Amino acid sequence: MVGAVVLDRSGLLAGEGYHRVAGQPHAEQEALEAAGELARGGTLYVNLEPCTHPHRQPSCAEAVLKSGVRRVVISMTDPDQRVRGAGVKMLQAAGVEVVLGVQADRAVRLNEFYIKHRLTGRPFVTVKFAMSLDGKIATSSGESRWITGPEARAQSHLLRHAHDAILVGVGTVLADDPELTARVEGSEARQPVRVVLDSQLRTPPTAKVAGPNTLIATTRVGEVGQAETLVLPHSADGRIELGPLLDELGRRGILSVLVEGGATVHASFFAEGVVDKVHAYVAPIVIGGGRAPSPVGGEGIRQLADAIRLREVDTTRIGDDLLITGYLDVHRDS
Ligand code: ZN
Repeated sequence: MVGAVVLDRSGLLAGEGYHRVAGQPHAEQEALEAAGELARGGTLYVNLEPCTHPHRQPSCAEAVLKSGVRRVVISMTDPDQRVRGAGVKMLQAAGVEVVLGVQADRAVRLNEFYIKHRLTGRPFVTVKFAMSLDGKIATSSGESRWITGPEARAQSHLLRHAHDAILVGVGTVLADDPELTARVEGSEARQPVRVVLDSQLRTPPTAKVAGPNTLIATTRVGEVGQAETLVLPHSADGRIELGPLLDELGRRGILSVLVEGGATVHASFFAEGVVDKVHAYVAPIVIGGGRAPSPVGGEGIRQLADAIRLREVDTTRIGDDLLITGYLDVHRDS
């Protein structure tokens, strides 16, 4: 997500642009084109370093030089290995003044999926759950629909839509038979890839997810409906290793994964240290029951000092529910 603004030599708005979709002109090119001759001697503001590699369009650094812009203000360098400072160098070498790092934190967050993928080859992982005030994700009989109100549910679909893949465990498939689609008004075109963690290949071929656009991560060779199965290494206790799964998703160009449970899957992701962000809804209802599940299962930690603590915590009220988001200490800036 890149936006650019050009000011003319007297500081007035001359042009703006943003990168709409892959294959379309980059933000700088749009903004410079809009500014035309007014760019000469002016300033370009952009949240990501101009690229140096010509792809479907000529490179943005070249376009900047051609425009006659005198000064370029950039939030962050581009972690893509084809750039990584090359754009800044090219501009400086040509005598353009470069200011780097303005609003860098916000720029990093804006493109956190892309940055994680370019730096590690793996998608950005968000764990999402909805729980009651007393920390339950279902009743003791397994009923979980719906804990949150309609506003939070609508937002969940937007969240799915914003991710390249949605991941659940086979337990969730067997219990709820979810479709795992993003139901968002006017956006039927693009659906996230559905990923099921299913070490023993227990997903029924009749399950709603057992269709196209689904990847079943397993340790066994076999077929499940029209879904693709992906055989992966497993740990001593038979669980699928998440590192190789994330590597494979990254290779397939998946920049972001939304993990939607259940408790065992969440426990694995936390235990393997592969969670980047948590997205937790808290509903003002009390479920109770010692056997009712909470969002993270497994063994848990023994000492509070070992608890996983979120950073950059944000709280938002959505309808009657509360949304709490925060980050884990992995892969900060570039
Ligand atoms: Zn570019």
